[in-house]
Amino acid sequence: MNTDLLKRLCETPGVPGHEHRVRDLITAEIDSLFDHVETDPMGSLHCRRDAAVPDAPKIMLLCHMDEIGFLVSHIDDKGFLWLQPVGGFDPRNLFSRRVLVCTDEGDIKGVMNPGGKPIHISSPEERKKVPAVGEFYIDTGLGKAAAEKVRIGDMVVMDEPFLEMGERFVSKALDNRVACWLGIEAMRRLGDKGRGAEIHVVFTSQEEVGLRGARTAAYKVRPDIGIGVDTTLACDTPGVPEKDRTTVLGKGFGLHVRDTSFIADRGLVADLETLARDREIPFQRTMLAAGGQDGAAAQQAAAGARAVGVVVGTRYIHTVTEMVDRTDLEAARDILSAYLEGFEG
Ligand SMILES: [Zn+2]
Repeated sequence: MNTDLLKRLCETPGVPGHEHRVRDLITAEIDSLFDHVETDPMGSLHCRRDAAVPDAPKIMLLCHMDEIGFLVSHIDDKGFLWLQPVGGFDPRNLFSRRVLVCTDEGDIKGVMNPGGKPIHISSPEERKKVPAVGEFYIDTGLGKAAAEKVRIGDMVVMDEPFLEMGERFVSKALDNRVACWLGIEAMRRLGDKGRGAEIHVVFTSQEEVGLRGARTAAYKVRPDIGIGVDTTLACDTPGVPEKDRTTVLGKGFGLHVRDTSFIADRGLVADLETLARDREIPFQRTMLAAGGQDGAAAQQAAAGARAVGVVVGTRYIHTVTEMVDRTDLEAARDILSAYLEGFEG
């Protein structure tokens, strides 16, 4: 599989509303895969492949480009940067992080910590406290000069390299560069087949702050069928009851039945399941107890669409150690291309 593309996607900074670098990377990759490519006013990248037959159904894949991150909200007198989160962070995972502050003039390294004392001089009570996200700040090492380089609204991402560990991949942005990778690689695999459908692969903006780019993109496309492509939980790890694990890493792509944003179309779930069995593509049905994804925006756009989700189980999600399995990624790619292939032109 094209691991190099996944690595480059994961290591490119792009938080909600600041997806431009990821969008540029995808634009350079998709080259001849589509007939029409354009960026909409909210920053989503619309890629359309025309059908070879009239009145073809419109199939829309929604793959969000943004990763969770921060925007600089204040630079204090000493040059420390204060932040507002864009996306759901657990403050327990934010201690002692290396970060990148992305300015118009270039990227600046920084370290993130909460205000407070080191272990040597803190009391037992102080050590038990988990700070709120808003108590973390960034030290760029530049002191007051930071104010000359950094501007309010600049994006901040975690600074962590992509890792390949056996059959597993680790990165801070697998949610959701996994789907960007799938949107590209499923189309590559499809080749010239599937001309009986008008295919829209939309790389959406601002999912992590409430499916915002997907809502306007789906309104524009007005699909017949929407497929939300995303990560989901894989809590097959210590400390989580078996009933809450959501997916098991390495057991195939997740066939998304329900989350708190939408309930998948029963017919589509059945179709994908039959297809996966026929093609011997490993899969697992999955439901998410809390959380949403772009498939909901497709389902509820305009007069509504049939929608489902194709998801990839991810351990340690929304941390810098997000982990996915190669088998699951390849299965997700294969089911997407097999499904599109079924629309013969
Ligand atoms: Zn996501």
